Amino acid sequence: MPVSDGVVIAPVHLLRRERRENITAYTLSPGEVPRELARLEQALQRAGAELDALIEAVTLRIGPAQANIFLAQKLMTQDEVLVAQMREYIDQRHRNAELAIAHTLDGYESLLQEVDDDYLKERASDIGEMRRRLLDLLQPAAGEEKSAVDLLGDASGCILIAEELTPGETVLLDTTRVRGFITERGGAASHAAILARALGIPSVSGIKSILTAFEEGDMALLNGTTGDVVRMPGERTLALYPALDQIIEPVIEVVAPVPGFQVMGNISLTTDLETLNRMEPDGIGLYRTEFEFFSAGKALNEDEQYACYRTVVEAMGGKPVYIRLLDLGGDKSAPFLDLPKEENPCLGYRGCRLLQGEPSLFIPQARALARASVHGPIHIVYPMIVDVTQFVTLRTLFNQHVAGIPQGTISHGVMFEVPSACLEAAEIYSVADFGSIGSNDLIQYLFAVDRNNDLVARDYSPDRSAFWTLIRVMADAAQAAGKPLSLCGEIGGQPQHLPRLMSLGLRSISVSPRLIPLSRATARQVLGARAAAQ
Ligand code: PEP
Ligand code: MG
Repeated sequence: MPVSDGVVIAPVHLLRRERRENITAYTLSPGEVPRELARLEQALQRAGAELDALIEAVTLRIGPAQANIFLAQKLMTQDEVLVAQMREYIDQRHRNAELAIAHTLDGYESLLQEVDDDYLKERASDIGEMRRRLLDLLQPAAGEEKSAVDLLGDASGCILIAEELTPGETVLLDTTRVRGFITERGGAASHAAILARALGIPSVSGIKSILTAFEEGDMALLNGTTGDVVRMPGERTLALYPALDQIIEPVIEVVAPVPGFQVMGNISLTTDLETLNRMEPDGIGLYRTEFEFFSAGKALNEDEQYACYRTVVEAMGGKPVYIRLLDLGGDKSAPFLDLPKEENPCLGYRGCRLLQGEPSLFIPQARALARASVHGPIHIVYPMIVDVTQFVTLRTLFNQHVAGIPQGTISHGVMFEVPSACLEAAEIYSVADFGSIGSNDLIQYLFAVDRNNDLVARDYSPDRSAFWTLIRVMADAAQAAGKPLSLCGEIGGQPQHLPRLMSLGLRSISVSPRLIPLSRATARQVLGARAAAQ
């Protein structure tokens, strides 16, 4: 699972540690109970003080939003129910504070791990971190469960490999010593992942048994944007990452635009504009507008959406801006919409089908986009289009909804991500202004392989001829129509695929902002090699 963007090549440092299972256990005589309660109280207070220091450090180093992760942990040390449960365990069972902590927190940790919600599941690791912190404070000499920082030893400039990193460990990582990390557990929504992204440390997670696949000091190539990890990369692999020296630096070097090849950036929130602008993109190739809704936890109204779209259009100062209509449903479920539960949401009420069925969602967005177009041209991308009729129907509705609003230049195009639409590319180009290949979903629907399922991750790959046949169909259709075709899925940022995309005629991609330099460097190399061969 890709967790935090960036590419790094470095020797690995293996972090092996055992969870503290041998917890000191003893029984108390009734007279010893008050002393044990005081020990517990003292540990909770000291943990609170440690967390205060951490909150201050994180606020300074990263920002107040990330510091809230530790504020939440601090609040746990003061949580009345949690503390009362620990006290009760000591008081009623006459057992020691260590056991009370382990018993209480293990219960919550396993409850959270069982919840069918990735976000809540990830919170289990916060409880695990609190458990370790409190036990360390009670048993400092035991040292059975050392933190990542202690275990780093003399390692420097390495990629850390661990079963899991806690948020507290991640934030204390010295970025000159740890250039990236790979973990067996911990998803993209974990606090460790959020902090890694804020610190700009490339990271990949979800590789089971990775600790046994590497020997200490082995070289590894880690691509935190694609989720690729290569052990002992050979010359041919390294050649795919031509600008590696520039790219691994903590502040990513800007790579100048490549004549004849457009590299735009994908954004999800207006707050992504800052990183994007640092990369000097050729435009925004995909703005995933539904993420503004997720971030607000509600459906935004017309004015709120207008403010976002205007900001984005103005930030690009006339460069192309592709804004996608809300792509809700499927794996991007929107609890705030209160939609019926579906057995098969990825094949259900999602994308353009949902927009067609829910005018209360579609109308405010259409109107907000029309109003924002006064500030600069907008390309509107229609997600999950299945055939030409669906596109034309929805575009007609769009035009009806915005009639009478003063507008600038608006063009309408299709996201090619459902195989049926790709096969119909020529018909679609006869009415659409442009196309954009959404390879993430295209791979999912073409090969019937869930893009978010670890169990089938090995099978989620474009390396089959059927995929490239479809790319050719779309590229040929675009060329025949003389209209633009871009690709905004993740494979655009994967250097191993770019040469093939380019050989089929693609001259425009849109990638995660931090990958713009890598994609440009690769495209320049491909074009240079081609020119030299002629
Ligand atoms: C895609 O499907 O390739 C795409 C770019 O959109 P998303 O990842 O948001 O589905
Ligand atoms: Mg998609």
